[in-house]
Amino acid sequence: MQSLKSKKTPDCFSWMLTEKMIYPIFLPHAGCPFQCVYCNQRVVASYAHSESDILEYVESGLRDYSSQVHKSGRAGEIAFFSGTFTALPPALIESILAFVSIAVKQGIFTTVRFSTRPDCLDDDVMDLLSKYPIGTVELGVQSLSDHVLQKSGRGYSASSVYSAAKRVRDRGWKLGFQLMAGLPGDTRELFIESMRKTIEIQPDFVRIHPTLVLEGTALAESFREGIYAPLSLDEAVDWLAPAYDLATTAGISVIRMGLQSDPALEKPGVIVAGPYHPAFGYLVKCRSWRDRIDRHFASLSEISGAEMVLLVSPNQVSDVIGHRKSNLLHWKARWGVSVKVAGDAGLKAVDFLFSYKDAKTKEKAALSTRIRTVKSE
Ligand code: SF4
Repeated sequence: MQSLKSKKTPDCFSWMLTEKMIYPIFLPHAGCPFQCVYCNQRVVASYAHSESDILEYVESGLRDYSSQVHKSGRAGEIAFFSGTFTALPPALIESILAFVSIAVKQGIFTTVRFSTRPDCLDDDVMDLLSKYPIGTVELGVQSLSDHVLQKSGRGYSASSVYSAAKRVRDRGWKLGFQLMAGLPGDTRELFIESMRKTIEIQPDFVRIHPTLVLEGTALAESFREGIYAPLSLDEAVDWLAPAYDLATTAGISVIRMGLQSDPALEKPGVIVAGPYHPAFGYLVKCRSWRDRIDRHFASLSEISGAEMVLLVSPNQVSDVIGHRKSNLLHWKARWGVSVKVAGDAGLKAVDFLFSYKDAKTKEKAALSTRIRTVKSE
């Protein structure tokens, strides 16, 4: 039996302990009806165990987290990830949640969070869950294209996603979507359409991951046989930038893009192919800002040679400048415009304000006081 004392939380999830106060327990592939073609949670989550010792493992994890919370005084959500929580045997779900409920009543945890498949939330399990303090459900949606879902062998259609989302909403729980880009059968258009449909459903947050080819998966075999080709890093950034733009403009929080760097994931041979980058989310945010400002410049006339100050929310400055000033260099090369970026605490994350250093013409002066909200694709 592994203990969370001896197996610390994988680095790729350490942000949960600091920013969101989510205490994760990883149950790789537990409850999953089959192994999805792209998925190998055993390498991503760093360790594995059999279903038979899940309860003991969970109890051990809860005890460890309880003692952490007693010391820190920081209660948070207890979360079950890396498997299909609601497809575990009902008696096991009940045992886990009964144990968790005691800790919730004691104020150690706020609520329960778990990830599951959209086709694993039937009436029986929803009734079972409703007896316990569930707070957040993360649905592994992956795509809202039936073509992509079928080609990827997910075993459900988009209609299951709509139904599951409604069930979660009806119970008053927070709803999260996980989407993937570059699955078998996917195209940029289908992926962006999935994001548009996601926005119509209005989850509270999304995670978006480019598809990686991991060792020990069917996708790795397809890749070796030349049947499947992953996105390049540049393609993945190009697909996700407009999706990120759409989500944030619609007020949907994007809590992660790409798998965060982790020693287990980065071991030689684990990632066979695909657009992995330790700062993938940052690259996407930078591209998103580049594209936003490109669209703005395309709507203007006579901007070549201008010197502009671009004001954005302070927490956006680094993303706007780009990796190694890539966006500043891009705007200079493409539009002949010199841009300086500064923070303005009065602006929202999706707003920007331009002023011209040499505001001589009427048109430029008018633009200098105009706040433009992002226009998405
Ligand atoms: S993608 Fe989700 S449902 Fe599929 S094997 Fe992985 S954890 Fe299980």
